Amino acid sequence: MSASLPKVELHLHLEGAAPPAFIRGLAAEKKIDISGIFDERGNYAYRDFWHFLTVYEAATAVLTTPEDYHRLTLAVLEESAASGVVYSEAFISPDFCGGRDLSAWRDYLHAIREAADLAERRHSIVLRGIVTPIRHFGPDKAKEAALCAAETAGDWLVGFGLAGDEKSGKPKDFAWSFDAAREAGLRLTCHAGEWGGPDSVRAAIRDLRVERIGHGVRAIEDLALVDEIAEAGIVLELCPGSNVALGLYKDYRSHPIDRLRERGVRVTVSTDDPPFFHTTMALEYDRLAEAFDWDDGVFHEIAKTSAEAAFCTFKTREKILKRLEKTDA
Ligand SMILES: [Zn+2]
Repeated sequence: MSASLPKVELHLHLEGAAPPAFIRGLAAEKKIDISGIFDERGNYAYRDFWHFLTVYEAATAVLTTPEDYHRLTLAVLEESAASGVVYSEAFISPDFCGGRDLSAWRDYLHAIREAADLAERRHSIVLRGIVTPIRHFGPDKAKEAALCAAETAGDWLVGFGLAGDEKSGKPKDFAWSFDAAREAGLRLTCHAGEWGGPDSVRAAIRDLRVERIGHGVRAIEDLALVDEIAEAGIVLELCPGSNVALGLYKDYRSHPIDRLRERGVRVTVSTDDPPFFHTTMALEYDRLAEAFDWDDGVFHEIAKTSAEAAFCTFKTREKILKRLEKTDA
């Protein structure tokens, strides 16, 4: 049922969305042995968040050419469209795409965009890109990634963020990169409040001046902060399935999404790295509906909030909003 509801996804790591079968196939073609990252059923296998990052990087290491990213983008968007996603923003990183070399990055970006255009024609799903350097690679590499982002900013590459290990460094270490991205017209988001507490969310808002926060769930531990977020209209890119899979909350019912929403925070729903967390957008909707007794009206409101918080152009947003309205009748 929920697959037919039109959805907007704002927090999706392109490599993290790679179907395991796709990565296994690519590894076989290239004769790379990564069998150790899969369990006996062929799913990605990891012990905890830090091991997850290692498995993630091993899976990503088989993606070595723009052509690989073209195929990856098509595979990912096909899955998203099957879940009813009509608009998606994917995190992509010059760290993985060309080692932060601008001309190589342009080639990767071109290949991803071509695949996105193809997927739009085939599945009516629209994709836009957000550059996210990897936090645990350090601020210097983030600067190089920011320069790649600034050079290629436009109506397709629309945002800049920060992913990776939240416990590595402080948001203000990355302020230069965020300032450069902002000056290039990119809109800003940052992972915070997943592994770090409320202070990590405060620091991202204060030092990086972001308008969206990736996760931000742990703001719930400080209600004054929750009220500030609601007041400022900052949007949380919530990924309940990811948080449950990584043990942040024991089940969907314990997840703070409903409490944040009730307190006036603009909440959205995404899958983060769906095959790693055994989820899809349709499954997220099903599990949230079951946990909180949400009806289609709540999901419509969430999709609308997501479209309004999307970093795309006004024209694209209008198109997406129209697609959401169509199913109102
Ligand atoms: Zn994420």
